[in-house]
Amino acid sequence: MTEKIDWQAEDKKYIWHPAMQMKDNEVFPPVLIDHAKGVYLYDTEGKPYLDIISSWWCNLLGHCNPEINEALKRQIDTLEHVIFTNFSHKPAIELSRELAELLPKGLTKFTYHDNGSSAVEAAMKMAYQYHNQTGHPERQKFMCLDSSYHGETIGALSVGSMDDYAGIFHPLLMDNIHFKGLDCYRCPYGKTRETCNIECFESAEEAFEKFGKETAACIVEPVLQGAAGMRMYPPAYLTKLRALCDKYGVLLIDDEIAAGFGRTGKLFAIEHAGVSPDILCTSKGLTAGYMPMSITV
Ligand SMILES: *Cc1c(COP(=O)(O)O)cnc(C)c1O
Repeated sequence: MTEKIDWQAEDKKYIWHPAMQMKDNEVFPPVLIDHAKGVYLYDTEGKPYLDIISSWWCNLLGHCNPEINEALKRQIDTLEHVIFTNFSHKPAIELSRELAELLPKGLTKFTYHDNGSSAVEAAMKMAYQYHNQTGHPERQKFMCLDSSYHGETIGALSVGSMDDYAGIFHPLLMDNIHFKGLDCYRCPYGKTRETCNIECFESAEEAFEKFGKETAACIVEPVLQGAAGMRMYPPAYLTKLRALCDKYGVLLIDDEIAAGFGRTGKLFAIEHAGVSPDILCTSKGLTAGYMPMSITV
C-alpha cells in the first residue's frame, strides 16, 4: 500500500516561496502543479490553469514546447557543462552571434550569467570598471527611475525604488540617485499621453546636473516597468535620457529582462526610442523559463 502524502503540508513545512507573504498560504495554499502544455498548467488532480502570468513573464513559447524539449535532450546527452574560463563551446558562440544580429546597434560582446539580478550586478560592475580604467574612478554612483525594479541582490536592490523589496535593507544599500515623477497613470503634472511633454524628465536633468560627473551609469527598464505594476511610459523619455547620458559621459544600462523578446511589440523595448544602450541585460524570455540564464551584452 502506498502512503498518502499531504504535499501541501509538506510544502508548508519545507519551502519558503519568493516574493510573497507566507501567511497568505493559510488562506491560499500553493497550487501543486504536476505537468504543463502550451498555455496550460495542470494540477495533481488534472485541473487546468491558464498561465496568464507566463510563469513570471518567462514563458514566451509555451510550456513543454516540443522543439525546445528536443533540443535540450540532444544537448544534455552531448555536453551538459564545461568551465567557461579558457574553454568554450559552439552553442554559446552561435547564440551570441545570432543575438548580435538582432540586438540594437553596437551590442556585440556577451557575458553569461545565471539569473536576471546577476546580469544587473555584472552591468553595474562593468560600468564602474570601465570608468575606473579610463581615468574616472570617481564615477561611483548609479541613477535609476522612479518605481524601478532590477532584482533582489544587494547591488540590484540599490537601483530599485520599491520599498516592498528594498525597505528593510536600506542600511546595506549603495547611495544611488532615484529620479522622481515618472508615473504616467497618476501623472504628478496632471498630463495625459496626448498632452505629455515629458515634464517628469526635469527630475533626471536636475540629478545629472548635480551628480552627472560622479555617476557611472543610469539603469532603466525600457518603456515598461513590470514589477511597478506594468507601468508604461513614453519612448521619448529614453531618447532624451540617451542624449543626457552622452552629454555627461554616463553609461546607459538597458534592463530588458522583463520587456525583451517581443513583450512590447519590438524585439527589444528600447527600439521604440530608436537608441542603443551601452549595456543591455536579458534573461526571463531568453530561455523561455527553461533554465536560469542571463546575458549582459
Ligand atoms: C525579473 C527581473 C529582474 C531580476 O531577475 P531574476 O532572474 O529574478 O534575478 C531584473 N530586472 C527586471 C526588469 C525584472 O523583471
